Amino acid sequence: QEADKRARILEINKTAAKYFYMLLQSQQGRAAREYFQKRELSEETIRHFGLGYSSKYSNDLYQYLKRQGYEDSVLKDCGLVTIDEKRGGYDKFWNRAMFPIMDANNRVIGFGGRVTGQGEPKYLNSPETAVFDKSRNLYGLNFARTSKKPQILLCEGYMDVIALHQAGFDNAVASLGTAFTSGHASLLKRYTKEVYLTFDSDGAGVKAALRALPILKEAGLTAKVINMTPYKDPDEFIKALGANGYQERIDQAENSFLFEIRMLERDYDMSDPEDKTAFFGQVAQKILNFSEELERENYIEAVAQRYQVGFEQLRNMVKHLGTRGY
Ligand code: ATP
Ligand code: MN
Ligand code: MN
Ligand code: MN
Repeated sequence: QEADKRARILEINKTAAKYFYMLLQSQQGRAAREYFQKRELSEETIRHFGLGYSSKYSNDLYQYLKRQGYEDSVLKDCGLVTIDEKRGGYDKFWNRAMFPIMDANNRVIGFGGRVTGQGEPKYLNSPETAVFDKSRNLYGLNFARTSKKPQILLCEGYMDVIALHQAGFDNAVASLGTAFTSGHASLLKRYTKEVYLTFDSDGAGVKAALRALPILKEAGLTAKVINMTPYKDPDEFIKALGANGYQERIDQAENSFLFEIRMLERDYDMSDPEDKTAFFGQVAQKILNFSEELERENYIEAVAQRYQVGFEQLRNMVKHLGTRGY
């Protein structure tokens, strides 16, 4: 019975995705089409991702689904409409550019919707349903899972994934408007050994990267960090410097530990000897967390080189802090 319910929701989602896609091509969808053009998405990309448009009328989709024979008792669980006892059903998404969210097996499990002009919130996402678990699905994974690229690119937004795929990086995925979780990490583990973070370069992006790294490590994945500065995110980076520029940044991706301590460094005044010592104390402490002696040695060397401090001095610091006899 639960399986029936899930199958029905998936069927409704698929019907809705087709409807949104059709609306985008219609007279009504003109502003959204222009919006996608402004974002430099090709017709091919719009088709590939099944992008669409949700009507500006408050219950267009609801009426359509009813005409297709779906009852309120079924529709109430799909996350696309709200059934109000007095006012009847109305749609969740109005007048938005629509991004169907597929699971790894290409089934439509939910939607993201973006305003095409002014308005809040910028993105609205389907609520979780019997088929939509945000912490166990990633946008773009249905394509990325069969990519020939060696790693998976993890970014923040739908538009980043789409821009990357359009530029030939068919290994890009994003979480669904929520934080990256261990559920996401174990999902990625099925398809790759190595994840490159390509988050926004703003404070929120750095914070999200610092949160995601230990989760990836915990799952046994290797992680590197791609630098998007001076651009805000992969979408804007690609628009400015193209696929070749982006590939260069992939090739220059930073070791995750070195990224972490570079971000840590921001909290210290490195021109002040006391602060500088405290910083290296923190770094030494973190180096101690590596279980292999060779790994510790390698990081001591990398840090000494990058920050122009003596290898022996840093090594001694790590030794003194250590309780495992270094
Ligand atoms: P765009 O380029 O279209 O402005 P973006 O992906 O750069 O979008 P960000 O603000 O960086 O937008 O947000 C990254 C992701 O976070 C979005 O793709 C979306 O999944 C999610 N998100 C952003 N704003 C909201 C919001 N108000 N509510 C829910 N999720 C949001
Ligand atoms: Mn952001
Ligand atoms: Mn963006
Ligand atoms: Mn962004």
